[in-house]
Amino acid sequence: MKKIGLIVPCYNEEACLTEFDKEMNRVIKSMPEYSFEVLFVDDGSSDRTLEIVKELSQKRDYVRFLSFSRNFGKEAAMYAGFCNVDGDYVAIMDADLQDPPSLLPEMVKILESGEYDSVATRRVSREGEPKIRSFFARQFYKIINRISDADVVDGARDYRLMKREMVEAIVKMGESNRFSKGIFGWIGYRTFWYPYENVERTAGETKWNFFSLFKYSIEGIISFSHAPLSIASWMGVICTGISFLAILFIIIRRLAFGDPVQGWASMICIIIFLGGIQLFAIGIMGQYLARIFSETKHRPHYIISEASDEVEKVR
Ligand code: UDP
Ligand code: MG
Repeated sequence: MKKIGLIVPCYNEEACLTEFDKEMNRVIKSMPEYSFEVLFVDDGSSDRTLEIVKELSQKRDYVRFLSFSRNFGKEAAMYAGFCNVDGDYVAIMDADLQDPPSLLPEMVKILESGEYDSVATRRVSREGEPKIRSFFARQFYKIINRISDADVVDGARDYRLMKREMVEAIVKMGESNRFSKGIFGWIGYRTFWYPYENVERTAGETKWNFFSLFKYSIEGIISFSHAPLSIASWMGVICTGISFLAILFIIIRRLAFGDPVQGWASMICIIIFLGGIQLFAIGIMGQYLARIFSETKHRPHYIISEASDEVEKVR
């Protein structure tokens, strides 16, 4: 019998978990030809999430859990899940039912057909989302696909079912600045994109705001592309070109009109302009440097303070 492992990162999800468990149980019962493991990763929640998860692990024999010593973020929670989950097929799924468990049977069927190594989900609409956020999200996908070798699909969610070998590859990508959408794309494999209508959160609130999404998108670009670094060189080339033209202009003006000294205002503008470009370029380098710094420290991705079984606590 094949086993399906489900990773569920949870951060302050007390309002959703009962509903999630009900729905999950219904789906699991509808697929008797598979055995299941649901691995909840409590990402240092400050509400009753851990308590509820513990209760579930007592009630259901397929439930396991890990609990972090503090909030490490969804990326770390997913990584912990990948490192510890068991199963021939593995899926990652949010606790708020925005990744409907009811799609699982269909996704498993697609994997079983043998044509694909993973089935990933993609939202076809961005309904219910602020217009400005949709706009920036679209621009982000356009930019990252143009400048990086990680193929990131617009509207892709983290919800995907994959074969064991993909999980091994993801675990091997041990970088500490993680951007999973890019990692999934980077490792390759044949992926089927499963479109579905956006579902609203069951209860509770999203942990993302505009600023955190913006930071996450910068993370994605810097993790998977060196293009911003070459912006500095290109701006250098362009500025040098412009300055040659300006010199030519001044020489001609001097020869033709015998120009007296003038142009204090334009001089200031030029100085500020160049200063701005230099700071901008240094800033880009700083972003990469900061990542190099945090990678070289080799700090653990997460620390587990409690788990339903024996696991590696610090990794
Ligand atoms: N999550 C997490 N750690 C965090 C933030 C979120 O494990 O620091 C989990 C959260 O519990 C949920 C999933 O990641 O299961 C997606 O979070 P959310 O619903 O806030 O994101 P959205 O669906 O709005 O993108
Ligand atoms: Mg959500």
